[in-house]
Parts: sequence; structure tokens; C-alpha cells
Amino acid sequence: MKTDVIIIGGGAAGLCAAVRLKRENRNLTVRILERLPRVGKKLSVTGNGRCNISNKNTDISHFHGENAEFCRYALQKYDVEFCKNFFEDIGVNYVFKEDKAYPSSLQASSVVDCLRFAAEDLGVIIHTDTKVTNIQVLKNGYKVLADKLGFETKNVIIATGLYSGGEKYGCDGSMFSLLKKAGFKTVNTTPAIVQIKTENDITKQLKGIKVNADASLKIGGKLIRKEYGEVLFCDYGLSGPPIMQISREVSRSDGAKTVTLDIMPETDYNQLVLQIAKRAKLMPERPLQEFFTGFINKRIGQVVLKSAGYKLSEKAETLTQNGIKKIASKIKNMEFNVTGTTGFENSQVTAGGLDTKQFKGTTMESYEYKNLYAIGEILDIDGDCGGYNLQWAWSSAMAAADSVLGDK
Ligand SMILES: Cc1cc2nc3c(=O)[nH]c(=O)nc-3n(C[C@H](O)[C@H](O)[C@H](O)COP(=O)(O)OP(=O)(O)OC[C@H]3O[C@@H](n4cnc5c(N)ncnc54)[C@H](O)[C@@H]3O)c2cc1C
Repeated sequence: MKTDVIIIGGGAAGLCAAVRLKRENRNLTVRILERLPRVGKKLSVTGNGRCNISNKNTDISHFHGENAEFCRYALQKYDVEFCKNFFEDIGVNYVFKEDKAYPSSLQASSVVDCLRFAAEDLGVIIHTDTKVTNIQVLKNGYKVLADKLGFETKNVIIATGLYSGGEKYGCDGSMFSLLKKAGFKTVNTTPAIVQIKTENDITKQLKGIKVNADASLKIGGKLIRKEYGEVLFCDYGLSGPPIMQISREVSRSDGAKTVTLDIMPETDYNQLVLQIAKRAKLMPERPLQEFFTGFINKRIGQVVLKSAGYKLSEKAETLTQNGIKKIASKIKNMEFNVTGTTGFENSQVTAGGLDTKQFKGTTMESYEYKNLYAIGEILDIDGDCGGYNLQWAWSSAMAAADSVLGDK
């Protein structure tokens, strides 16, 4: 079957590239080969089903990889405004919540639908249940093999993502392994934007409680990243937006790792000592069981008091100045030893991937293989939580599509 462009993977980047190609040139034959029974399965669950489609602030500091500079050109050329116009043209209206962009339907499935409708209306040929197993280099192009089918094509765009979300979203890394075997250089892959497992059984006792906190990841005692937001205590450890945001280095760096929570970041340590001392003076008869009721989350308060060496049956009058200092310090520095993450299955993105040195940052084309492109998550670029990974999928897809269209 002869084709101008084969796109391997009908996820965020693959669908976007296909629509861009056909909108700009209806005469091209564009096929998407997707291993799952439907396209865009992962995209349909993004942003807790609401799809955080982009972010106003696409500063390069929100993107990571061995050479994060690689993504600068595509992100600037195909920026938020450019992609917003593209999506508006196919029916997806953006709304912004602070810097984060969402479809105004607040339905991730509607983003998939609009991409799919546009692709179908424009004549993109979509082959579902079609897993690509090999790519052969021909004299004037490529032969893409999928089960018993073979497609000859001039251009190949690889948009198979990596491991994040796991097999249920089609992400088994099979194409990545194939490319690695074929000699492509890769950067070590680890889960990012993921929950953190901790050793401390305190998280088990506090399971289900949410608290606003500053969460800091330290490796070998050195602060790596600090983020503020709602932390969720779980039986395996910690979750919530700030935890996901600081999780990237957990599997990438050696050394003892801790997460420290400051659950009263707006109050400094000395102030807190004074406040607790005042409270103890005001209610000396109050059993410690209820001492923090109305001040911090009651169960967290009880855990803090116990970890500072107090029995909950004691009265507030038993709190000494040293004890109060210890309690204040526990509230400002609840420390948890990190044992790992909950893995690729639960991660939103994969850090690492195809080494970007092998691709042109302007077009995503391989230096070695003409007309062969890689876009989206399979490349060694990952963004922070907040719409950055989808923006990278869109920007890299546009860059590759425009290169195919002749804007090299
Ligand atoms: C639960 C969850 C929530 C997320 N929420 C957000 C969010 O709100 N905002 C944000 O910016 N990012 C979010 N992300 C990240 C974002 O979804 C990904 O970064 C993005 O989907 C990557 O796009 P992609 O096209 O590179 O890969 P994918 O979207 O993963 O698409 C790859 C496609 O390739 C197919 N495929 C794989 N191998 C083959 C093969 N051999 N042959 C044929 N087809 C193949 C897969 O089945 C899949 O459909 C989230 C991720 C997860 C898991």
C-alpha cells in the first residue's frame, strides 16, 4: 500500500500531525497506524478527564531532558497561540484557569473527538488494531510492517509515546526497543509526574487526608525541588500535584532521598512556637488528643504529637518549651524516606527516550534517516505537570508535519 506519510501511533502527537498535514495539503496520502482498537485513548483521560491541553507559560525551564534546548525552537514557533488557533479551527475552544489551558467543554474525550472528526473529514486513513513491528529502509523511502500488512511510504513519523500510563494506553515501549536495537541512541527512561513511595508508616496512618503544604525533595541532603499544593497521604506514600511535580528525580538520581512537608508554610518556625505555647497556656486542661483541633488537621496533629514523644491522653499543660519546639519543627519538617515511585503504570510522562542529538530541533527529522521523524514523548523531552507534555506533543507534531509539507 503506497502512502506519502505513515504516522506510527494515533495518540496526541500522531493525530495532531495527521490533521496538520491534511489541512495544509489534501493531496497527501496520510495513514495512522494505531495498535489499539481506537485512537487517542491516553489523551481521553488526561487532566483527570478534563485535558490540561497547554500552559500559557511555556518557558524552557518547564521542560527536561539531557538537551532540553532541543525543544526551544518548536515550542517558540508552534507556541500556545498557534496551537490554540489550530484547535479552535477544528472545534476545540480553549479556556484558561490561571496559566493552564483546558478545552471549554472540560472533556478530554472531546479533544480526541475533534481531532478524530477532523482527521476523518480530511481523509486521513486510520488503521486501528495495527501494531507496527518493523521499519525497513528502502531506496526511496521506508516499508512499515504491521502484523501481516506492509506499507511503503516516503515519510515516517514515529509518534508511539513511551511507557507512561502503561499497556492499557498502548504504551509498551515496543517501538522504542525496536529503534534501540536498530542503533538509535537512547537516554535512560524513568517514570516522571508520578506518586512517591515512602518508608514511613505515618502516611498509612494519615491515609486519605489532604493538606496544603510545601513539599521538598532532597537528595543526599541537597534540595532538588520544592513545590506548594495539596498533598494526599496514601498507604504507599505521598500523592497530589506538588508530589507529582517533584517526583522526576526520584528514579534518576542516586543518593538517599527524602520528601519534607511543611504543612504551615505561611507561618515561620518562631511564630509557630509562640502560637503553640499560647494555645497550651489558654487550654491547659485540654487532652492532647484534641489539642490541635481547629489549628491543623486533627489527625495530623495527633501524629505530630506522638512523634514528638507525647501520649494523646496527656493534658496540654504537660507540653514543655522543648517539646513545643520539637512539635513546631515536626509541623514545618515532616520528613519521609523515599523508597521509589509507583512506576510507569501510574506516571503521566516518561523521562528519557530517544537521544535528541540524533534529530533536528527545527523539524524532528533524523539526521541519519531522511524523512524519518520522531515526535512527542518518545523523544528525550518531558515537561512539568501543567499542560507542558501535551504542548510538546502539539509543537513537535507541527514541526514534523511542516517539514514533510516542505517548510524545512
Ligand atoms: C493519566 C495521564 C494524565 C495525563 N494528563 C496530562 C495533562 O492533563 N496534560 C498534559 O500536558 N499531559 C498529560 N499527560 C501526558 C500526555 O498524555 C502525554 O505526554 C502525551 O499523550 C504524549 O503524546 P504522544 O503522542 O507522544 O504519545 P501517546 O499519546 O501515548 O500516543 C502514543 C500512541 O502510539 C500507540 N502505539 C504505541 N506503540 C505502537 C506500535 N508499535 N504500533 C502502533 N501504535 C503504537 C499507542 O497505542 C498510543 O495510542 C497525561 C498522561 C497520563 C498517563
